[in-house]
Amino acid sequence: MAKDSKIEWTTHTFNPWWGCTKVSPACDNCYAEKWAKRTGHDIWGHKGPRRELSDAYWKQPLAWQKQAEQQGVRPRVFCASMADVFEWKKGLNPIRERLWELINQTPNLDWLLLTKRPHLINRLGPQTPWPSNVWLGTTVESQRFANERIPKLVENDATVRFLSCEPLLGPVDLTKWLEAGRINWVIAGGETGAGARPTDPEWFEMLKDQCTTAGVPFHFKQWGDWYPITDEVLVSSARTLVDDKYSVRFVKRAKRLNGRTLAGRTWDELPTPQS
Ligand code: SF4
Repeated sequence: MAKDSKIEWTTHTFNPWWGCTKVSPACDNCYAEKWAKRTGHDIWGHKGPRRELSDAYWKQPLAWQKQAEQQGVRPRVFCASMADVFEWKKGLNPIRERLWELINQTPNLDWLLLTKRPHLINRLGPQTPWPSNVWLGTTVESQRFANERIPKLVENDATVRFLSCEPLLGPVDLTKWLEAGRINWVIAGGETGAGARPTDPEWFEMLKDQCTTAGVPFHFKQWGDWYPITDEVLVSSARTLVDDKYSVRFVKRAKRLNGRTLAGRTWDELPTPQS
């Protein structure tokens, strides 16, 4: 919600509304739902209302546009962290129309529309081709959702099509889409907060290797709350998890201690928009 987002791969965050309905295991510990509740908004589920934002809030991207134009830069705007832009619900279409208009008014901003409902992009998107400042992405937490969501995402022409593999909950093979040039960017990350589930480091390594082989930019966002243990001191002194499901043992501790290093380095690669 802030002008300068804390999310590593974006500059700003914008929410056309607040509220959503859970659709898959990646939603189990939805941070947005918890944050909405904490701030007094009961806006989750099919029956819940959605929270609309003020005109002053909607003007913020126009100010970002002005600044970006003056500075000759292209900030990225993540849309939406507190909702899903392609949620099917009565009353949301006029807000979406307002969003498409705002996107057209802000050509210096690259809008990252991330959804868990890519099957609705065609139906709920604008009835004109996507402008060049829209990047379309979908969440892939497991192979099942790679198989279901990526074919729907890649039906759409966009300057960048990306995947957010966060929280990554299992091994995923993206090879056929990466090698066919259908996906231009992959983000991966672990889970944070109450109920967070660990990600096996082998699953992250697999994605990194698939991207490297296919020449697709890879961004490793963070480990999340669970960190693979290599240090025996941690094994004996901290909260650990041992489970046959994983190739390693984990320690649970603050996300900031776990960092963003994978295979000895950070991965902050970015896509080159397609013309
Ligand atoms: S789609 Fe996103 S915002 Fe909606 S419930 Fe799932 S995680 Fe939360």
